Amino acid sequence: MPLTNTRPTAQLQALDAAHHMHPFTANTGLAEKGTRIITRGDGVWLTDSEGERLLDAMGGLWCVNIGYGRERLAQAAERQMRALPYYNTFFQTSHIPAIDLAAKLAQLAPPHLNSVFFAGSGSEANDTNLRMARTYWALKGQPQKSTVISRKNAYHGSTLGAASLGGMGAMHDQGGLPIPGIHHINQPNWWLEGGDTDPQDFGRQRARELEAAIHEIGEDRVAAFIAEPVQGAGGVIVPPDSYWPEIQRICDAYDILLIADEVICGFGRTGNWFGSETVGWRPDIMTIAKGLSSGYQPIGGSIVSDDIAAVIGAAEFNHGYTYSGHPVAAAVALENLAILEEEQIVPYVRDTIGPYLATKWQSLTDHPLVGEARIIGLMASIALTPDKATRAAFAADPGTAGYICREHCFANNLIMRHVYDRMIISPPLVISKDEVDIMIDRIWTALDQTYQTLQDDGLLRPAG
Ligand SMILES: *Cc1c(COP(=O)(O)O)cnc(C)c1O
Repeated sequence: MPLTNTRPTAQLQALDAAHHMHPFTANTGLAEKGTRIITRGDGVWLTDSEGERLLDAMGGLWCVNIGYGRERLAQAAERQMRALPYYNTFFQTSHIPAIDLAAKLAQLAPPHLNSVFFAGSGSEANDTNLRMARTYWALKGQPQKSTVISRKNAYHGSTLGAASLGGMGAMHDQGGLPIPGIHHINQPNWWLEGGDTDPQDFGRQRARELEAAIHEIGEDRVAAFIAEPVQGAGGVIVPPDSYWPEIQRICDAYDILLIADEVICGFGRTGNWFGSETVGWRPDIMTIAKGLSSGYQPIGGSIVSDDIAAVIGAAEFNHGYTYSGHPVAAAVALENLAILEEEQIVPYVRDTIGPYLATKWQSLTDHPLVGEARIIGLMASIALTPDKATRAAFAADPGTAGYICREHCFANNLIMRHVYDRMIISPPLVISKDEVDIMIDRIWTALDQTYQTLQDDGLLRPAG
C-alpha cells in the first residue's frame, strides 16, 4: 500500500488551522470546526486521516475524470521529471510533451480549432483569452472592439481577469471587481428566475439578452461572448434546450468571438469530448483545464481557431506564463487523454453511465424537498424547496438548507456540494453502476435527514 497516514488527526488539524489559509473559506470558523484531512484516493473513493472512506461525487473540484490512484500517470510524471523536469517555450525552444499535447488537442477539438496556448490553470487561460480576443481585434484594426459580454453567476476563475469575466456577485464585492470593459447579462436559470414563463420561451429570452447587449454596446465595440456550455460552479444550471441554438445564431449574426469555457464541460463530462459538441456550439476559443489532466497536475490552456492563430501569430503576443506547457504537466495530461481514449470513457458517459444516472437522478424529484432535477452527462443538480408547486425559496437565508444538506452528506461519507440551495454533483467519469447506486442511496439518506433538521429547526417555510 502506498502512503497512509500515521500522524494524529488533531495535530494535523491544529497545524492546518494555524498556518493554512483555505480558498473560498472563512478560515476562523473552519479552524474552530477542524478540517477533514484527505490522505488517499482510489477510483471514486477518498480515505481520510481516520481511515473513513468517502464517495467523492464532486470528482475533486470537477476534475478527476479518470478517477484517483492511476499508476500510469505517476509513471508518466516520473519519466518526464527524469528526462526534463522543466523548460520554457518562450525563446525559440520547445519540448516534446508540449508539442505532443498541442497536436493531440488539435486532433480532439472541432476541425477549425488547431492551435493551443498553454496556461497553468483555467483562470490563467481565461486571462489569456481576454487579452487574446482584444488583441485579435486590435490587430485587425478595430481596437475599440474590446468589450466582452459574459453572464451573471458564471464562473471563469479567480484571477482579476477571470473573476471579472465571471459573474459571481460575492467575488465582485471584494477587491474592486469587475475590471472595466466586461458586461454581464442574465443567466438561463429557469428554476430561480423563470417565473410563469414557459421554460423554452425563457431560454430564448435569456439568449436574446446577448443580442440586446450587442445592440446597446454596439457591434463594433464587442469583442467576444464568453460562456460555459453548462454553468458549473453557478449550480449546474442546465438551460432549456432553446437557449444554446439561439446563442449560436446570435454569435453568427454579429461579428463577435464565441469563447466556450470548457474547463468543466471538456474531456467527457457531458458525454462528448467537449461540451460545445453536446450543445451545438462552434466556438472560436475553448478554455480547458481540470479534466485535461484529471487534476493530477495543474495545467490549462486555450484552443483557438485557425483564424485567430493566424491573426495573433502575425505579431508578438506579449503574454505567457513560466509554466505554459510545463513538460511534466503536459506529459501527465497526455497520459490522461490516452486513458480516456483507451478505456472509451467518453462513450461510456454518453451511452452507459450517463443514461443510468439520469434515470436515478430524475427519481430524486420524488423526495418532498426536491423541486427539479437537472442532468447532462455526468454533471447534475437538484433544487431544494419548501414548496415544489410554487418553486418557492426558503424563508431562511439562501444557502441555509443547502448547507445543512451538505453537512448531512459529509456525515454520510458522501462529498456533494451546495450552491445556495442547489445540490450538485460531478463524479469521476469512471463511476460504476454499483457506485451510482451507493451515491443515490446516500443522497436519499441525506435528504431525509435534511428534511428532519429543517422541520426541527422551523426552517421548512417558504419565503415571502
Ligand atoms: C474551475 C473553473 C475555472 C478556473 O480554473 P482554475 O484552474 O481553478 O483556475 C474556469 N472556468 C470554469 C468553468 C471552471 O469551472
